[in-house]
Amino acid sequence: MSKRVFNFCAGPAALPEAVLQTAQAELLDWQGKGLSVMEMSHRSDEFVGIAERAEQDLRDLLAVPSDYKVLFLQGGASQQFAQIPLNLLGEGGSADYIDTGIWSRKAIEEASRYGHVNVAASAKGYDYFAIPGQNEWQLSADAAYVHYTPNETIGGLEFNWIPDVGDKPLVADMSSTILSRPLDVSRFGLIYAGAQKNIGPSGLVVVIIREDLLGKAHSRCPTMLDYSVAAANGSMYNTPPTFAWYLSGLIFQWLREQGGLEAMQRINDAKQRKLYAAIDASELYTNPINVADRSWMNVPFRLADDRLDKPFLAGAEERGLLNLKGHRSVGGMRASIYNAVPEAAVDALVAYMAEFEKQHG
Ligand code: PMP
Repeated sequence: MSKRVFNFCAGPAALPEAVLQTAQAELLDWQGKGLSVMEMSHRSDEFVGIAERAEQDLRDLLAVPSDYKVLFLQGGASQQFAQIPLNLLGEGGSADYIDTGIWSRKAIEEASRYGHVNVAASAKGYDYFAIPGQNEWQLSADAAYVHYTPNETIGGLEFNWIPDVGDKPLVADMSSTILSRPLDVSRFGLIYAGAQKNIGPSGLVVVIIREDLLGKAHSRCPTMLDYSVAAANGSMYNTPPTFAWYLSGLIFQWLREQGGLEAMQRINDAKQRKLYAAIDASELYTNPINVADRSWMNVPFRLADDRLDKPFLAGAEERGLLNLKGHRSVGGMRASIYNAVPEAAVDALVAYMAEFEKQHG
């Protein structure tokens, strides 16, 4: 009997039960080979097959154009904050960054160590409750690229549009939004995403990079951080996180079985609508984000009286609704409703919120 809860964690996040069952069934003996994926050489035909299939499935899901490389790297999205300027800034170059919250500010801080960062727009003037429109952006002529964070996982702020930055490479931290719906990859120079939300387990970061951006790394860039080295070696310059890569591949297969990203878009749209509708209709719960800029994947909300936070979380836990506590830096609640969180989880949460409001509202 499965005792699995509904898990609203922001990351590492819920994984599809069917994928975990496959991994469990294959754990001791992967497809009759008599060993687990964790015990295989990354150079073996078996693992290279797993890796190539995962890449192809991801390419198919996102319709990645043929002039882009897909890299499976380590160090999380945080390492990309340094790796991107080390590869794209050149010697003492400059880049434009858009500040929409905690994650974009971390990217800005790190990039500032390698060159000049021009903060071309900031949501600060909107208390980080709205995204500045492109008419407010002050892009600079000499920027090597433009970086933004399409979905701020903590703030719950998401772009529902892709910026137009002319012929500048657009660089996007898609950690908490990738695979939530179809994406026009051709609009980007580089996309990166930590795996532990919509891709798979932690320990892996996926980078999708247009080929003309390879080979520009700073002369002091560590070999391990040079995208062109990773690309030339099929992301196997050193030993990759093989099990995380394998499990991510199972997620990509699962997504294809669900009907791909159009199907995920329909489901995710239904989930987010239900949850925001419940928040907006209540007297007890609020979400401050400008309606057009609300995140589909990370829904923060507050209770009118924060003394109710503890009983709210305790009651949720009793009902198997886990990890609803907001990020430690902002407090309140946050429901992360990634691909692997079913609509039934949102239904259960909405029902509990109504019940709690009746008792405490
Ligand atoms: N960017 C965003 C948007 C994130 O949500 C996170 C993690 N929550 C990070 C970067 C950092 O990711 P990692 O822990 O993989 O370094």
